[in-house]
Order: sequence, then C-alpha cells, then structure tokens
Amino acid sequence: MEDKKIIIAIDGHSSTGKSTVAKQIAKELKYIYVDTGAMYRAVALYAMRKNFIDDANLDQAALEKELPNINIKFKINVATGLAEVLLNGENVEEEIRTLRVSKHVSKIAAVSLVRKKLVEQQHQMGKDKGIVMDGRDIGTVVFPNAELKLFMTATAKDRAERRYLELKEREENVSYEDVLKNVVNRDHIDSTRKDSPLRKASDAIKIDNSNLTLNQQFEQILLLAKTAIKNA
Ligand code: C5P
Repeated sequence: MEDKKIIIAIDGHSSTGKSTVAKQIAKELKYIYVDTGAMYRAVALYAMRKNFIDDANLDQAALEKELPNINIKFKINVATGLAEVLLNGENVEEEIRTLRVSKHVSKIAAVSLVRKKLVEQQHQMGKDKGIVMDGRDIGTVVFPNAELKLFMTATAKDRAERRYLELKEREENVSYEDVLKNVVNRDHIDSTRKDSPLRKASDAIKIDNSNLTLNQQFEQILLLAKTAIKNA
C-alpha cells in the first residue's frame, strides 16, 4: 500500500535553519517544499519599491490597495531543482534575501490583509498534502491539523552567526551586529503582533538545534516524519 501523504509544518524563530531542513526532508520524501517567508519577503520588496515603507513609516492603506496587483508564484530552477520566487513574473529570489528586505519584512507581515492573501494561497498549495511548509504560523494558523508540527529554535547568537556567514557568502556588506539586531527585532515583532503571532503550537515538537549538526538534525526530523506518515 502506498504511504499516505501528510503535511509537515515547521515554525520557529528567525534564522533557525528551518528552510535548510525543510528542503532536505522534502527532497527525501519527494514532497513539495514551500518557503512562506519568501512570500512575505516578496510583498515587502514590492512595498519598498513603491516607497510604501521606509525605516520610520508604513503606508498601510496604500499597500492594502495594491494587494490585488501583487502576484507571487514559485518556479523551479531546473539547474538547482529548487523553487524560486517570482514577483509579478520577475525572479526576485536573490533580492528578497538581502538584509534590506529583512529589515522591513516583519512590519509588512503584521498587516492582516497581507496575511489573508498569502494564507489563502498557502492553503491551495497544501490541499493535496505531500508538503513541507515553513514559516511562523503554519502549525498554528495555516495548517492547524498538520500531521507533524515542529518548532525550531536556537540561541540568538547562534542564529545571527549563521545568518551573518550566509550573507557574507553572498558578498553582502553587513556587520554581525546589524544581523544580530535584525534577528532579535524580527522575533520581537513576529511574536508580539496581533494577527497570527509566532508561537509554538501546543502539539508541536520543539527542536533546539544550537548543538546539533545539520546531519543530526536531519536524521532526527526524518525519523519523526516517517513515524507521522506511518501513523497517518
Ligand atoms: O522565514 P523568513 O525569515 O524568510 O521570514 C521572513 C519574515 O516573514 C519573518 O520574520 C516574518 O515576519 C514573516 N513571516 C510570517 N509568517 C510566515 C513566514 C514568514 O509572518 N509564515
């Protein structure tokens, strides 16, 4: 008998390596991987380009009015096999990962109408199951009935170090202090917003990966996934 397909929801703090392990698990299980953070980042980039947001202000009404004109899609890059984000048809995969976008994204993600639009799209993507989705509200709001929920965390210092190295690798001119500040600030905004705040679902399994190698983490989560599939 063929295995039942399940939904795997991975939430957690910023830069906890959610997407790294989500991609590994999706590949192993031949599931679809959806990076919901990329969707919020793409909306943030749109708002930045239209000058709806700067360091001090957000013109929420203008952003809300533009929402029907913001189209976000994923497209597989055949060379890497990974999904990349298209914003109104333009590949913005690189640009959405910059610290510039990270600095604005949490304010954009706190806007309820933005969340409503993206969550609807996420529901569609998960309707046939066989999906690994990572974000902040997947196990609590998007798929509260997901068969496996994980909540990832690590110390802010560990997370900022990882993100800093990642940005440096892409030759972005950033300082460690700025990255640390951004990680802490985003967690604060994400955890205290009114709509769908970041929190651990009561039935999510907490994984602190401060002291886990990538391989240990992968093996641990794969085992949880296989057990959840067997029990589905
Ligand atoms: O996962 P990533 O760090 O790329 O997410 C960027 C931001 O998008 C988060 O800091 C958060 O503000 C927002 N986000 C969210 N809900 C999700 C995924 C991301 O609010 N499901």
